[in-house]
Amino acid sequence: MKIIAIGRNYAEHIEELKNERPTAPVVFLKPDTALLKNNMPFFHPDFSENIHHEVELVLKINKEGKYIKREFAHRYFEEIGIGIDFTARDLQDQCKAKGLPWEIAKAFNGSAPVGEFLSTSEIKDFNDLNFHLLINGELRQKGNTSMMLFDFAVIIEYVSQFFTLKKGDLIFTGTPAGVGKVNIGDRLEAFIEGQKLLDFEVK
Ligand code: MG
Repeated sequence: MKIIAIGRNYAEHIEELKNERPTAPVVFLKPDTALLKNNMPFFHPDFSENIHHEVELVLKINKEGKYIKREFAHRYFEEIGIGIDFTARDLQDQCKAKGLPWEIAKAFNGSAPVGEFLSTSEIKDFNDLNFHLLINGELRQKGNTSMMLFDFAVIIEYVSQFFTLKKGDLIFTGTPAGVGKVNIGDRLEAFIEGQKLLDFEVK
C-alpha cells in the first residue's frame, strides 16, 4: 500500500507556515514503513530537533481506480479515519530552502500514525466534518472540512491522474492550523466529531 498526502490544504495553516496558497493540491507520498497502527508509540527520531504534529483526516481507498472524476470519487472510499502527518520541520525547512524534495522530513519510519476508521455511512456531510487533536489533554488543533481548499472529491480526482489508487491505500487530506513540536512523553489523542479514534504516546 501507499500513503498519499496533501499539503497546504487549510488556509490558516498555510498562513502559519508562511507558505503560498496553492492553485492545485500539493502532493507527496509516504511509504508503507511510515504507517503506525494500533496506537503503537511513536519513537522520536534522533535526526530532528523539531518533529511537528499535523492532525489530518484520512481516507481509506476501497478499490482500484485511476482518472477518477470528482463526481464518482465517493465510490472509492468507504472509511474515514484520523492520523498524524509527523513532519521533521527542521529538515523540511532545510530542504525547502534548497528547493529539494521533502521525503526525509515527511516519509520517515513511523511518520504516519493512523487510528480506527469510521464507515462513511455514519457521516452526514463530508464537507462539514469536525476533528481535533489533544496533546496531554490540551486542545492543540481543530479543523472542519468546510475549511479545505480542495475537498475529498477534488483530491481524489487530482491524485488519481498520477497514481493509480489501490485498495488499502490511504490519503492524508491536510492539516488545519495549530501545528507544533512534540516531545518525548507526550500523549496524542485524535477525534472525529468527538469520537476518539487515535491515542498514542511519543517515546
Ligand atoms: Mg500534512
